[in-house]
Amino acid sequence: MSAYDFDLFVIGAGSGGVRAARMSAGYGAKTAVAEEYRIGGTCVIRGCVPKKLFVYASRLGEAIDDAAGFGWSVTDKSFDWSTLVANKDREIDRLSGIYARNLERAGVETIQDRAVLEDRNTVRLVNEDRTVRARTILVATGARPFVPDVPGAEHAITSNEAFHLEALPERLVVVGGGYIAVEFAGLFEGLGVDVTLLYRGPQILRGFDDDLRDGLAEEMRKRGVDVRVNADVAEIAKEDDGSYRIACKDGDRLHTDLVMYATGRVPYTRDLGLEAAGVDLGWNGHVVVDDYSKSSVDNIYAVGDVTDRVNLTPVAIHEGAAFAETVFNDRPTPVDHDAIPTAVFSEPEIGTVGIAEADAREKFRQVDIYKSRFRPMKHTLSGRDEMMLMKLIVDGESGRVLGCHILGPDAAEIVQALAVAIRMGATKADLDATMALHPSAAEELVTMREKWTPPQAEAAE
Ligand code: NDP
Repeated sequence: MSAYDFDLFVIGAGSGGVRAARMSAGYGAKTAVAEEYRIGGTCVIRGCVPKKLFVYASRLGEAIDDAAGFGWSVTDKSFDWSTLVANKDREIDRLSGIYARNLERAGVETIQDRAVLEDRNTVRLVNEDRTVRARTILVATGARPFVPDVPGAEHAITSNEAFHLEALPERLVVVGGGYIAVEFAGLFEGLGVDVTLLYRGPQILRGFDDDLRDGLAEEMRKRGVDVRVNADVAEIAKEDDGSYRIACKDGDRLHTDLVMYATGRVPYTRDLGLEAAGVDLGWNGHVVVDDYSKSSVDNIYAVGDVTDRVNLTPVAIHEGAAFAETVFNDRPTPVDHDAIPTAVFSEPEIGTVGIAEADAREKFRQVDIYKSRFRPMKHTLSGRDEMMLMKLIVDGESGRVLGCHILGPDAAEIVQALAVAIRMGATKADLDATMALHPSAAEELVTMREKWTPPQAEAAE
């Protein structure tokens, strides 16, 4: 008899853990997965999926506004938040059920409990108060919202709570300038909330291409979001009527009904027993892993946000699959974290793949920029004052496309398709040789002929 109850014990049934568990079981490993909250993890339960459903809701309101220019008149426009939340919850229940059934069908034992490590092979199931032993352990516990230690921060909600608000506030202050902050600011504004976004730095979405950052901030302001940069919160105070007063370090003051912090997420490794098992943790508590997702302990692996590599669902899924290939299919598979396309479901949307202009200028000797800023065709009749931006970053020496950055409707869909070509090494000449699809917005990507020259270079000529 084996000294182990399981070949593989996965902690966390989110995107990465579930993929790894199902595939490993498929390769014959006796597998269990423990989950302390809900099967499906952040993405399905309180992340990407419910967020995108809220984004759709928000955009339908905009579509009603835009319809008049096309001859439609909608006389009774009203929105019911509780209907949206209830329908979203039903869909999330359905998806979580599918995840659970898929695990069952794959022969994975699902344990609804909190699991902590006692040593490198022993897992304690906290509520069931028993231990199991596993040959290999996979940590896939994801991340948790991080809220800085600001006086009054306990009054603020995070994205976790935003999915279950009992009612929409009239006014909302969102703190942060990353993915979650700009997405929730946009979607709540679209649902009729008066939104202010406070970001501590000079421009939102640090790390993204500067034209996207400037373009999005401008479009958000046009839509009514009060985007305030260089705005760092000093204190939040609750008033007797339940509202909040926010004081910023520069003396700025705001009054609001709800404060939401979206100031990043931290790997969820606290009290997991990892240190006891000898696993090295990084500066923010992430599990340090090698290219094969192996930790400093030979039989303990980690995938997804808990490793703080690239914190995106498809990356966690890839890492989970690569782990199963490596450990249970005898096919060592590293994960390629290069040229990962990503979207920000802001209003308007961002889709991006490859490097930003500023990074390209540091890494390459000659960089050619192609960009086009135009009014999407739909808005010629809708009358909406919104511009779309498309930008290509090209290595001037090899002609290879290094990055593509889009701001505007369907940016995510367009970039996903172009990411294949970019990954395959497409050059600007390849794009030029591709027939345009007319009339579309994406045709701009294959019809941009003129290199963009910075205004000062033009002046110098
Ligand atoms: P991000 O890392 O994207 O952004 C965090 C923001 O909070 C930054 O603007 C950061 O500012 C700011 N911040 C950090 N610390 C403080 C502080 N102490 N005081 C004030 N501001 C602070 O994190 P998010 O929470 O938005 O999202 C977490 C992750 O989830 C994302 O990085 C992404 O990987 C993933 N995600 C992906 C989505 C998608 O694919 N569409 C959607 C949502 C989330 P600064 O830049 O100055 O450091």
